[in-house]
Amino acid sequence: MTKKSEGEQLKAQLEYSFEHIGSKRPEDIEKAAVFCEGYKAFMNASKTERECCAYVKKMAEAEGYREFDPKERYAAGDRVYFVNRDKNIILVTFGKKGLEEGVKFNIAHIDSPRLDLKPFPLYEKDEIAYLKTHYYGGIRKYQWGTTPLAMHGTVLLKDGTKVNICVGEEEEDPKFIISDLLPHLSAAQNKRPLSEGLKGEELNIIIGNIPYQDEKIKDRFKLSVLRQLNERFGMTELDFTRAEIEMVPAVKAADIGLDRSLVGAYGQDDKVCAYTAVMAAFEVREPDHTTVTVLTDKEEIGSEGNTGMASRALEHFIEDICDIFGAKPRNVFRHSVCLSSDVNAAFDPTFADVFDKNNSCMLGHGPVLTKYTGSRGKSGSNDASAETMAKVIGCMEKEDVCWQIGELGKVDEGGGGTIALFMGDMNVDTVDLGVPVLAMHAPFEITSKLDVYHTYRAFCAFYRS
Ligand code: MN
Ligand code: MN
Repeated sequence: MTKKSEGEQLKAQLEYSFEHIGSKRPEDIEKAAVFCEGYKAFMNASKTERECCAYVKKMAEAEGYREFDPKERYAAGDRVYFVNRDKNIILVTFGKKGLEEGVKFNIAHIDSPRLDLKPFPLYEKDEIAYLKTHYYGGIRKYQWGTTPLAMHGTVLLKDGTKVNICVGEEEEDPKFIISDLLPHLSAAQNKRPLSEGLKGEELNIIIGNIPYQDEKIKDRFKLSVLRQLNERFGMTELDFTRAEIEMVPAVKAADIGLDRSLVGAYGQDDKVCAYTAVMAAFEVREPDHTTVTVLTDKEEIGSEGNTGMASRALEHFIEDICDIFGAKPRNVFRHSVCLSSDVNAAFDPTFADVFDKNNSCMLGHGPVLTKYTGSRGKSGSNDASAETMAKVIGCMEKEDVCWQIGELGKVDEGGGGTIALFMGDMNVDTVDLGVPVLAMHAPFEITSKLDVYHTYRAFCAFYRS
């Protein structure tokens, strides 16, 4: 081997570049593929926050977690879960150290952008029965036309019975669809800005096209649908007002690429961080610090409501735990560290213009540590301190986790937020860490298996630190 020049030596010593995990740790390619088999199954069973919460509860019970009981006494290594209104689940493994020495929070959200039905959604127009929607979270509306959709949800009938709905996920199930114009007649629509390619009030879902067999009545196509809904779920039109029904892409998670390097699925923002966080919580059985893994809701619409992170639900749960150990919640919070585990926008070579490449995350380079989110000069951002960055980088370095740094696009190109600021409000050192995603918020989002696997490794390292 030729001796390195002085310049080459200095460069190696001072410069840093984040590498593709496939070059740095090729032995992880197979491990990541195996890990993502469980991930894909999780995604197919978890299209809404309720379904995800129920699925994780089942997984946790199989791992030996018991439902949290405020009257119980707990010791290091004990594992409990707490469910908030069927939409959040918190997994706790009690640590060897006292609560006031701080806990390790890891928070991911399990709601994803979708089309919610309006409260009184059913109508017919020119012999087609439709459902009216109001979109949930940031979507590019034109992407949702002509995409096969499935119907998920929960209805409370008048007698109090709770009925779960899931139509469109099985191969033989019917699907639902929003129509769009044919190219032959879209000259006028083509002149609309892309953001109005399909407008909010045009996101109408086709649900039926056969009339009820009685020519004396009006709205026979609508009645036909109502009869079907009544037969299947026992509901009447008024029951829509006691329901949460969500339309999501009727698509299964799949490997992408001939090399199967990527995962395509609906709702990876942010269930990819939820799955990796849960798997890491399962893996780390005897942590020094108590680990608190939180799957939250409503992030996509600002974290408001009592199942979102702006709520006091988590604070109250920590108070309940503190009561058992005689700890003060404020001492717990001020000594804790939190990963706000959420996805970031992967650099997209086709749309390179919106990214600052040196400060963007690349597919296959590992989880992205995002110091700040926000927009227009970091507004609305938690902006993690150098000390918090050092702590989290330190625990990843200790276990040879591949990670990268990134921000969400170029300055003033747009922006976004996460739950980080709410944990900041609670006086917890918080930073964002998560998986890079291509085509975020689209009906079908893309991640790298190596990134998913190393995010899991990062979370394990964090819980063990
Ligand atoms: Mn997110
Ligand atoms: Mn999002």
